[in-house]
Amino acid sequence: MIEMQDVWKEYPNGTKALNGISIHIQKGEFVYVVGPSGAGKSTFIKLMYREVRPTRGHIFVNGFNIERLKDHKIPLLRRSIGVVFQDFKLLPKLTAGENVAFALEVIGLSPRQIKRRVKDVLAQVGLEDKGDKLPSQLSGGEQQRIAVARALANNPSVIIADEPTGNLDPDTSWGIMRLFQRINDRGTTIVMATHNRDIVNSLRRRVIGIENGIIARDEQRGLYGYDD
Ligand code: ADP
Ligand code: ADP
Repeated sequence: MIEMQDVWKEYPNGTKALNGISIHIQKGEFVYVVGPSGAGKSTFIKLMYREVRPTRGHIFVNGFNIERLKDHKIPLLRRSIGVVFQDFKLLPKLTAGENVAFALEVIGLSPRQIKRRVKDVLAQVGLEDKGDKLPSQLSGGEQQRIAVARALANNPSVIIADEPTGNLDPDTSWGIMRLFQRINDRGTTIVMATHNRDIVNSLRRRVIGIENGIIARDEQRGLYGYDD
């Protein structure tokens, strides 16, 4: 499902973000990616949807060979992956429903099919009655739920989340985590970078620890393991 073989990333300014990463993530896994700030977590995650290209090494995601992927095939890769960000990244001038629909319009569904799918994923995140609101009219937790709905729109086999609870208070964070758990229970793979120690230590899952650009540990049902 997701495989990296000896992956290195050096940014154009010379920063060595990843120094030989090898990893295998199977379908249906729930994986936390933890580590100090600057360790390489975001880079590791961005490689999966080709936001960042490796300097060397091999990466396979959902059957796509990431280094060989032609630019015009990137949308195809990204349709098989839902991405959720710390700052939600909703389009501010579109309603919640339009933000979700936007992800679907490029794939050639009819307006009726889009409407049905939007309704369906908004219901999955518990916000079926908020489709007409602008992001600015929603709380942070609601905005993140909309972002999760958008990530689910194309029925991806993997959801990648970079600090999805980083801007949310603890109660709201737990709500979002329950949502991710439900999504994972239905078979969707989840890869989540997080600094949320309470969550990692309570909802025990696989923990990949990245430090100084390498995998420092990889534990089934691991703990957070840092003091930050
Ligand atoms: P390019 O346009 O060559 O792909 P990037 O977008 O990767 O370059 O980054 C442009 C410059 O911005 C980098 O050379 C770097 O100095 C700086 N930069 C961007 N993001 C970061 C970051 N997270 N940490 C440090 N420097 C960064
Ligand atoms: P983390 O997510 O663990 O905080 P990152 O993957 O964002 O780590 O960053 C790893 C290292 O790469 C850091 O030293 C960071 O400053 C650097 N970095 C990240 N993005 C860029 C960029 N676009 N250009 C240059 N350096 C970057």
